[in-house]
Amino acid sequence: MSKTILITGGSRGIGRETARLCGALGWSVAVNYVSNEAAAAETVALVEAAGGKAIAIAGDVANEQDVIDMFAKTAKAFGPITGVVNNAGIVGHKSSVADLTVERMRRIFDTNVLGAYLVAREAARVMPLSKGGQGGSIVNMSSRAAPLGSAHEYVDYAGSKGAVDTLTTGLSTELAADGVRVNAIRPGLIETDIHASGGQPDRAARVGAMTPMGRAGTAAEVAEGVMWLLSDASSYVTGTFLDISGGR
Ligand code: NAP
Repeated sequence: MSKTILITGGSRGIGRETARLCGALGWSVAVNYVSNEAAAAETVALVEAAGGKAIAIAGDVANEQDVIDMFAKTAKAFGPITGVVNNAGIVGHKSSVADLTVERMRRIFDTNVLGAYLVAREAARVMPLSKGGQGGSIVNMSSRAAPLGSAHEYVDYAGSKGAVDTLTTGLSTELAADGVRVNAIRPGLIETDIHASGGQPDRAARVGAMTPMGRAGTAAEVAEGVMWLLSDASSYVTGTFLDISGGR
């Protein structure tokens, strides 16, 4: 059965690979992005080439109205939303806690915590059966950083993902009897642009080499996990965490 999926941060990295796999199943995908319009257009083309339908939607997940609008635009284009990948996220440059500035912490928490909670709130307003929705699946993008803490790198980022884990536990309980499953993926070191944006372009390869599997993961490997949680194959799974991290 076809599904309508909204992917925040769908223009690049893990979001893009997930969009592509949704397209291969013939699903309809709303590809949210914040500033890279060209990347979003490329993702839309990839989804269409794979056999699905897609639109790009600009919007900042930390902006309440943008989030409300992205849900409305998705439903207008493709009908009721049956899946949300709550994926947009950012990191800062390598820093110890003692050196964190308040501006940087606000930026991280605004996008990764407020953004994730706003997206989850809108999903909780439209997807539950009791609210006239069709039910479905919400997949929150956490990180292995949440339990590991990311000492001397970005404890603020790790903490923001801890908040995503708590969101997953709480919201999954709220919506379990209302047709909506809520789970989280905790990726390890995955080759995407996020490491360069944090000033360490070689980080995934360098630290990935020290993990039990001895390598970084790919965005496609994470997307496979997202797809399982979005699909009906995981129909009895909610409130859980899937670590895709090569054993680390
Ligand atoms: P990425 O390649 O840097 O892509 C980030 C995506 O998020 C882009 O599509 C970007 O849009 C979008 N974005 C950033 N800020 C946004 C905002 N305020 N509103 C809407 N969209 C926004 O990152 P990634 O590695 O795929 O990461 C995706 C998720 O996985 C993040 O939550 C990240 O924390 C998590 N994760 C990644 C790793 C890893 O090793 N890569 C590990 C653990 C967890 P533009 O293209 O417009 O900039």
